[in-house]
Amino acid sequence: MQGIDLHTHSNISDGTLSPDALVTLAVECGLHTLALTDHDTMDGVDLIRKSAQAYDIKIISGVEISSQWSRPATKKTYGVHIVALDMQQPEPLLDALEIQKKIRAERAKQICQLLQGCIGQDIYQDVLALVDGEPDRITRTHIAKTLVNKGIVSRPQQAFDRFLKEGKRAFVKFDGLSLAETIQIIHQSQGYAVLAHPTRYDLSATNVRYLIELFAQLQGDAVELPPSSEALSTRHMVDRMVEQFNLKVSIGSDFHGDNMPWIKLGNTPVPKAGQQGIWNAFR
Ligand code: AMP
Ligand code: MN
Ligand code: MN
Ligand code: MN
Repeated sequence: MQGIDLHTHSNISDGTLSPDALVTLAVECGLHTLALTDHDTMDGVDLIRKSAQAYDIKIISGVEISSQWSRPATKKTYGVHIVALDMQQPEPLLDALEIQKKIRAERAKQICQLLQGCIGQDIYQDVLALVDGEPDRITRTHIAKTLVNKGIVSRPQQAFDRFLKEGKRAFVKFDGLSLAETIQIIHQSQGYAVLAHPTRYDLSATNVRYLIELFAQLQGDAVELPPSSEALSTRHMVDRMVEQFNLKVSIGSDFHGDNMPWIKLGNTPVPKAGQQGIWNAFR
């Protein structure tokens, strides 16, 4: 337990704890540094800062940005998540997130329309009820949860496997910022760009290596270390790439509360000797 968690979600997006409850749990877990990184929104950051005032814990501003990149050779576009941390001048990023939120809201409608063709009913209003009627907060987690609540699938994972993941009938890509734009805007906002969960995109090993190299070329700052639940060979591959491209490392659990009960807050991988933690650069 290192006392640092730089990738977490609240119920502003697809976590289940309020920002306030997240802080309380973080303090109970013995964390001294916490970043809230909800999907395409920083709406929880002020809330969590306020809650944290009562405790001895450092809150880092954060957001997990839905981004995309492509390989010139294949012209295929892939989704990628970039965690932005410690923005000192967040305005450029906040402006970009307003557009990301509109895209997110529109995409949720499109997904529900495609789902209607698969299951014969429109679940959009039920999905919307899970996010207090705010469509720009809808994630595929909420859609999966609604499909479980309606008895159409038995588990959220089944909703992804049957309908929601890439290649399935209700998949809609998130057509927002490119990887280059994302990193540029994070830097304009004086924050750090972190490549989130590099080995969780269903990419071939070749494409993972290409992505990390591209991220480094575009001046990305740090790569998240894979959790210990992933194969040791996966961790070794990331360690080698981090060293080769002189990248820093970040550690985050990707905590989602009861939506992913197997992920424990603060349960983060231990950096290897010599790896530079992005948290050492926090202001
Ligand atoms: P979205 O940003 O709307 O595409 O939703 C992404 C969220 O859905 C991720 O942060 C995960 O929490 C969840 N998710 C994505 N892919 C899967 C998957 N294959 N199985 C389970 N959950 C997933
Ligand atoms: Mn999520
Ligand atoms: Mn993610
Ligand atoms: Mn996440």
